[in-house]
Amino acid sequence: MKIHEYQGKEILRQFGVTTPRGIPCLNVDDAVKAAETLGGSVWVVKAQIHAGGRGKGGGVKVAKSLEQVREYASQILGMQLVTHQTGPEGQKVRRLLIEEGADIKQELYVSMVTDRVSQRVVLMASSEGGMDIEEVAASHPEKIHQVVIDPATGLTDAEADSISTLIGVPAGSIADARVQLQGLYKAYWDTDCSLAEINPLIVTGSGKVIALDAKFNFDANALFRHPEIVAYRDLDEEDPAEIEASKFDLAYISLDGNIGCLVNGAGLAMATMDTIKLFGGEPANFLDVGGGATAEKVTEAFKIMLKNPGLKAILVNIFGGIMRCDVIAEGVITASKAVSLQVPLVVRMKGTNEEIGKKMLADSGLPIIAADSMEEAAQKVVAAANGK
Ligand code: ADP
Ligand code: MG
Repeated sequence: MKIHEYQGKEILRQFGVTTPRGIPCLNVDDAVKAAETLGGSVWVVKAQIHAGGRGKGGGVKVAKSLEQVREYASQILGMQLVTHQTGPEGQKVRRLLIEEGADIKQELYVSMVTDRVSQRVVLMASSEGGMDIEEVAASHPEKIHQVVIDPATGLTDAEADSISTLIGVPAGSIADARVQLQGLYKAYWDTDCSLAEINPLIVTGSGKVIALDAKFNFDANALFRHPEIVAYRDLDEEDPAEIEASKFDLAYISLDGNIGCLVNGAGLAMATMDTIKLFGGEPANFLDVGGGATAEKVTEAFKIMLKNPGLKAILVNIFGGIMRCDVIAEGVITASKAVSLQVPLVVRMKGTNEEIGKKMLADSGLPIIAADSMEEAAQKVVAAANGK
């Protein structure tokens, strides 16, 4: 789960990380009031969407008067902000953060992620802050430094100070940077993050270290113990198909391809997508209907997949273990009729009551393409998607 920058900064402040003072708002008048309340003479008007790269896309603007705050707030609110993380259609801006302008001397990069190989939290840091870290990783990998953090000690003073030195924090600001890095680690750990990124972390003209941006992703499997994080959820920012699927307890992720996949079991779903790609196709989604899928659930899954205007074919790939093939067949038949299916449907089922399920599909009169192996199913669905 993702949250907005202003929410991320609320969390950071709770863990002792310094951020600029800022006020979130939903309309232009409130933006101007926010700037008045903050005082000072420079403000930054920042689009709040669940994607980075807002600055480059025109979603972050420095205002030097209240009139400019008004001008930029009216420009940014409601705009369709396109960044390298939104896709070409962009994301509509519905919220702003009005923040005091910071006196930037250095822009650094710091983030934490969970590294599956070492099974630890890794701190990544670079002197090249404020820009695409992906670009830095590609062109100057030597400029990205890492600390693998031992959960027994947390991020130690020595580790924090040494990485701060490596990324060019001046000697007089090392102690301040330590507070920020250790605060970030504590925030990451205590809220069950999967990503916490501050880009840029700045050093000001007077040597203070401040988090100027905040990007957090949370581990969805741990949200049950963080109602305060769940409260930050903004459904406007989420994929409508994924929200709809979550209502029916379907694990669904939208993808860019044109072949809908309906599979039981996450592992089989991944393998199905791999096999489709192996034969030159592109999955339109990941979908795990789970072990206890009912005909109703399968129908909802079909409806969600079919809302995608680019969908060209569907592959149903079921292993009947706990789930019986006849139940799935019933679901597929009901769903195909309920949604008056217009795209080719390939079905592969194996396991419990396979023969009964196959017979039901064959007797249904529906134009279902049957397949026996994964290979055959993938080849047939790719051909169908290509109109062959
Ligand atoms: P994004 O990463 O989505 O582009 P940031 O919050 O990192 O958004 O803002 C982009 C750039 O705008 C920063 O790298 C920084 O140079 C500038 N900026 C952001 N917030 C402030 C601020 N409060 N004061 C001064 N400059 C800022
Ligand atoms: Mg940023």
